[in-house]
Amino acid sequence: MDLQGKVEKVIEFEGYTLLSYMARGHVDKGAFIAEVQQEFEDEYTVDFVEHGFARFVPVGKDMPGQMIILHCERGRGAFPITVIDLETVHLLKITETLEEHPENYNGLCICQTCRSYVDS
Ligand SMILES: [Zn+2]
Repeated sequence: MDLQGKVEKVIEFEGYTLLSYMARGHVDKGAFIAEVQQEFEDEYTVDFVEHGFARFVPVGKDMPGQMIILHCERGRGAFPITVIDLETVHLLKITETLEEHPENYNGLCICQTCRSYVDS
């Protein structure tokens, strides 16, 4: 699958911070990573890629533009996305250093416990 030019950067509202890379549709995660690496020269692995849903909302009454809400529920106005959320990446990099799974944590996780499930 060729995703050339299909991956977009999502930037913080009224800021410059890069929040995520996304493409519309639930696309192949490997192809998505390949495109991010080629286009933006950022290195991530498939572990960081999620399939989710997003929707656009107006910024405000008298303001142009739209904001995108990532990680919303599937439903009216929502469309499928493939995304690397840099906040999630940050969290994942923390979980990667843990030997045991953090109690009550349900997010994406690559701690040693979770990885041992994947490996076995
Ligand atoms: Zn874990």
